[in-house]
Amino acid sequence: MKKKLKRFAFYRSIRFYIMILLFVIGIVPSIVVESVIVQSYETRAVNQRTIMVKSQCEILADQLYNRGYLTDSSDEVINGEFDLLTRIYGGRIVVINNDGKVIKDTFNIDNGKYSLSQEVMDCLNGRESSRYDRDNKFIELTFRIQDPDKKSSSVNTKGVLLVSVSTSEISISKGILEERGMLILAIIILVILVLGYILSGILVKPLQKITQAIEGITDGYQDESISVNDYRETKLITDAFNRMLARVKTVDDSRDEFVSNVSHELKTPLTSMKVLADVLNQNPDAPIEEYQEFMKDISAEIDRENSIITDLLTLVRMDKKSADLNITNVNINDELEQIIKRLKPIADKAGVELILDSFRPITAEVDQTKISLAFTNIIENAIKYNKPEGGWVRISLNADRKYFYTTISDNGIGIPEESINNIFERFYRVDKSHSREIGGTGLGLAITKKVIVMHRGAIRVKSKLGEGTTFSIRIPLVHIV
Ligand code: ADP
Repeated sequence: MKKKLKRFAFYRSIRFYIMILLFVIGIVPSIVVESVIVQSYETRAVNQRTIMVKSQCEILADQLYNRGYLTDSSDEVINGEFDLLTRIYGGRIVVINNDGKVIKDTFNIDNGKYSLSQEVMDCLNGRESSRYDRDNKFIELTFRIQDPDKKSSSVNTKGVLLVSVSTSEISISKGILEERGMLILAIIILVILVLGYILSGILVKPLQKITQAIEGITDGYQDESISVNDYRETKLITDAFNRMLARVKTVDDSRDEFVSNVSHELKTPLTSMKVLADVLNQNPDAPIEEYQEFMKDISAEIDRENSIITDLLTLVRMDKKSADLNITNVNINDELEQIIKRLKPIADKAGVELILDSFRPITAEVDQTKISLAFTNIIENAIKYNKPEGGWVRISLNADRKYFYTTISDNGIGIPEESINNIFERFYRVDKSHSREIGGTGLGLAITKKVIVMHRGAIRVKSKLGEGTTFSIRIPLVHIV
């Protein structure tokens, strides 16, 4: 239940992030576009209004001058026009003469007063102005009254037309535009949220299915594999997962097999000892010779148990990930000579001749103890599994610039073809009883292979039943980390 809740929360958060992402991708540009459209509408509308008012002012200013309005503001025609214009534009017109005196104010507030604001002064000096006051919703502009025939000279300015025009309907239109924009935005948000919800669901579904399938088998993966082939992604993940599962299963199987082999191998000497001891116990009057013989057998079984445990420990230590190699520069010729010297008594006893062919002096970066163990195992096998008479073991050593090569050949009993691929497996023996008889544990070649692989080397075997066996080993001269 707890696991389910956790999974649910996980997928919910994935969906949440997908929706946030879509939201940001969809909404931010929409907001920007909306505000740009509204802004450019306002700028355009204000500019148009300003141009229109300016052209009206031009006509009006000429009329004011021609009809001498600056000296007599009672002109009915002009005042009528003022009325009309202020009504159309919802604004105010103020006429100021070049002394700064207000000749006419359509609002009748400043009539007869002096108005010498900065804009008016600038206009009297020839600089007309126009200003948009967004907050108070009006455009204010100043326009020169001058002799139409002598325009463009600032000295010629006879007065100023100060005009304020309301822009409230521009603001209303802008408001409507904004409202519609907001409505469209709201619709877009809604659509994105719905789409996001559906899309995130679609995206999360394969993951959900895979998780469910994996969880369904984690408790007992023995013979199972998952199958979620609904989507391409899930198929790829399932295939990879099933491959991993198969590997885990192989490791698991081989571990089980190894454990049962170990138990069996360790039990065998114990069983023998138990039998020997029981026989003696049941027969207290047995002659001393029988006691001595049985004790010798028990001692041999103890030695056997001991060598199995030693080999097992060696293997287990090398199996560890952290197993280190103690790399030094080792003279391989010397090393092989030492091994042969050590094995000579066993070889002599078995009537096997040992021959070493060294083609050149070789020094390599290896772990001396481990390499020595590996070669000893193979040469010892070549002696052990040899002919009862006239046997030989030939060891040759050569190198190129990258590797050194050792071959160990014998003219012994050989290995049957069907067993060749198994001899490096732990506890594998072609002939169990023969191997046991000659003190084998079935772990020697497994240890040897492990050592060679740790040195990034390779080992191959060729054999013919009844004719002999050749092991070929290749190891880099310089240690590869
Ligand atoms: P063991 O301790 O039994 O010798 P190994 O792992 O060293 O175990 O070898 C595995 C098996 O491979 C041996 O039991 C033997 O049957 C076979 N074998 C190894 N070396 C040779 C060889 N030179 N000639 C014939 N058979 C061999």
